Amino acid sequence: MRKCDVVVIGAGPSGSLAASVLQQKGWEVTMLEKQRFPRFVIGESLLPRCMESLEEAGLMNVVEKLGFQKKVGARFYKDGEICDFDFSQQFTEGWSWTWQAPRSELDMALAEEVASRGVNLKYETTVTHIDFGAEKQVVFYTDVAGKEEVIECQFVIDGSGYGRVVPRMLGLDKPSDLAPRMAVFGHVKYDAIHEYDKRIDIVTVTDKIWAWLIPFSDGRASVGFVGVIEAFDHLKDLSDKESLLKLIASSAYIAPKLGDVEFTMEAKKISAYSSAVSRFHGEGFVLTGNSTEFLDPIFSSGVTFAMESGVLAAKLLDRQLRGEAVDWDTEYVAYIQRGVDTFRSYVKGWYDGSLPKIFFSPSSLQQFKDQICSVLAGYVWDESNPFVKKHSRILTTLSKVLDIQMDKPEE
Ligand code: FAD
Repeated sequence: MRKCDVVVIGAGPSGSLAASVLQQKGWEVTMLEKQRFPRFVIGESLLPRCMESLEEAGLMNVVEKLGFQKKVGARFYKDGEICDFDFSQQFTEGWSWTWQAPRSELDMALAEEVASRGVNLKYETTVTHIDFGAEKQVVFYTDVAGKEEVIECQFVIDGSGYGRVVPRMLGLDKPSDLAPRMAVFGHVKYDAIHEYDKRIDIVTVTDKIWAWLIPFSDGRASVGFVGVIEAFDHLKDLSDKESLLKLIASSAYIAPKLGDVEFTMEAKKISAYSSAVSRFHGEGFVLTGNSTEFLDPIFSSGVTFAMESGVLAAKLLDRQLRGEAVDWDTEYVAYIQRGVDTFRSYVKGWYDGSLPKIFFSPSSLQQFKDQICSVLAGYVWDESNPFVKKHSRILTTLSKVLDIQMDKPEE
């Protein structure tokens, strides 16, 4: 039987960064990927915090060469008003920029690089079953020719994203505490020639639908619309392409930016993508990236969590494989959960209206803007930031204060 130290399932950002860290530490890693790369996956807006993960995994120079559009902030637009966050004006010390990156290119460059450094990467290889044990894990997969194969390892990292291989296998899936939502999206022709294209647009289209526009450096952009599933009922008889065209036309902000819309990929619809798990780890395995919990696209946190969890899981596993004790609950689960929970408060604040209220009350926002900006940049573990430490209450409290101020008669 084939053997290696660690099997990584999935060559998305969480898988590749985990594989990179383990390979650098001298472990023999096999990364099994279901699809042939380049492959499309949604999620092109990165956060500054993920630059630290790329550095730690020794992969920053790989991405630097790809010439992606620089992202220096995020601009929120509602009814003619703009709230612009500039990552250079932050509370937490850290990266002031990142990239707007088509994932087919980003993910392939990362996967190919780790393969060139010695990770055994197999495309078109689907993990179908795992026998978990105290000493060894036996991973069953079908190879590119459809042949059943087996590999034995000491540990499995599940970075299978929306595939959720181990959660499905062990019944760990748990419903998300967020309402099911739908996204309609695609890539379109768009020339990012302006300084303001170095950021993403988040546009309030109606009280139930918001949209993103993410310009790339190669004459394209990603555009998508998100809302509760019922908000798209009026489009149910239309194709995905017709739906997206209609949605674009409905936004007085996005439609003029795109002009005559020309798609560079087929439009797509996905729904009920928020997910959670009852456990992040168990005998012989750990979950990373989207196979743990995925909240919502609103703050572009998915890839940052995928990278952060991939790197941390790999560092802890290295220690464990060397014979050191690792407390996965405190060193991994609690840490990742802390960051996820911070973003959860902001996602909930976005949809319950408290966060937009804060964003579009410029005089009140000003005094807290750099602190909120650090959250939006992904620095969600910096507890010296009150907007991280008190995330569960601070947005509601601030929004109530704004309500009182608005009700107060002018003196
Ligand atoms: P993935 O990137 O999904 O990679 C997992 C890999 O595992 C895939 O290549 C898959 O083929 C492989 N795989 C699956 N099953 C198997 C199997 N059985 N065997 C072998 N391989 C397998 N995030 C952001 O950061 N920014 C954004 O702007 C953003 N926008 C989003 C918009 C929407 C509408 C949605 C739904 C999500 C968005 N996200 C965004 C989230 C982002 O898509 C994910 O968080 C991110 O891709 C997770 O990375 P990952 O490495 O965990 O998994």
